[in-house]
Amino acid sequence: DTSPMRCEEEEEADLLKGVEPDVARPIQIVVADEEEHSFSLQEEALERLLLKEEVQDLNVVVVSVAGAFRKGKSFLLDFMLRYMYTQSESWVGTEEEPLTGFSWRGGCERETTGILAWSEVFVVKKPDGCKVAVLLIDTQGAFDSQSTIKDCATLFALSTMTSSVMVYNLSQNVQEDDLQHLQLFTEYGRLAMEEVYEKPFQSLMFLIRDWSYPYEHPYGLEGGRSFLEKRLQVKQNQHEELQNVRKHIHSCFSNIGCFLLPHPGLKVATNPHFDGRLRDIDDEFKKELVNLIPTLLSPENLVEKEIGGVKITCRDLLQYFKAYMKIYQG
Ligand code: GDP
Ligand code: MG
Repeated sequence: DTSPMRCEEEEEADLLKGVEPDVARPIQIVVADEEEHSFSLQEEALERLLLKEEVQDLNVVVVSVAGAFRKGKSFLLDFMLRYMYTQSESWVGTEEEPLTGFSWRGGCERETTGILAWSEVFVVKKPDGCKVAVLLIDTQGAFDSQSTIKDCATLFALSTMTSSVMVYNLSQNVQEDDLQHLQLFTEYGRLAMEEVYEKPFQSLMFLIRDWSYPYEHPYGLEGGRSFLEKRLQVKQNQHEELQNVRKHIHSCFSNIGCFLLPHPGLKVATNPHFDGRLRDIDDEFKKELVNLIPTLLSPENLVEKEIGGVKITCRDLLQYFKAYMKIYQG
């Protein structure tokens, strides 16, 4: 059975039969134990992913989409997958084609806190002729209670440390809370890193979904830039705490951007039978989507993961994951 619509029961049945499911799919690489307030790295899964012959020695690009549940991360990642698999003008797909990929579990999806990676690492040739390996990551958790805030900060820290581009997926606006959470997990991240780097993390992209003030700041990257500039501005009359959050965020990332996405339309947001086909998505959204995805993933825009100013390979990334994980496990 190669159908992407598989439920956990089927998967377990396959495992019992000793069948290795080889369809491309999301793989859990960090699992949260909510009772124990701990995390574990799925080392074998990660090794299978990063030590594949064809990618292990290539410099790695890690694009992570992070944020709370039910905010359209999988939906976005599925379009990223389309782009990676198609690599042509027509990547966005046809009107009637359902979306598959990270949302493949559909109705039987449990909301689990953790980090998922797409099982296929893409090999892309950059304009300079160098080949790089592209890893797509989904990081999710809830910041809704004191205990989950601490747990999730650890998880998001791990994701920030290991990604070259962190897409921080937010709904409607950048709230003060969102900035505080970002500060918390970048602080956790910084603490875990041995060396003190000038800017410990690479690219941060705020992605604002359902942006509804296009007359103030237009959709897209340019509107995002002017919005963020205003939102992250440090002002003299601001409360010290607000000033500090802003200074901290600026000090952590070498590059900060923002993209404003329109609402995708009521079918996407509310119809339980919506399966991702373009016909059901608002034109305005599609127009911005076709700008957003290449901004993140086109060969010339790919950002290779660096640690301490040095590009790292898939094999190195595996070691970093293990080392960072050890620190959090105490
Ligand atoms: P995830 O939990 O963050 O991965 O969210 P999903 O991608 O599974 O999407 C959750 C729900 O939000 C689904 O019903 C999607 O159809 C819908 N959705 C996807 N993108 C958007 C968006 O940009 N805005 C709104 N309002 N809903 C969206
Ligand atoms: Mg999801």
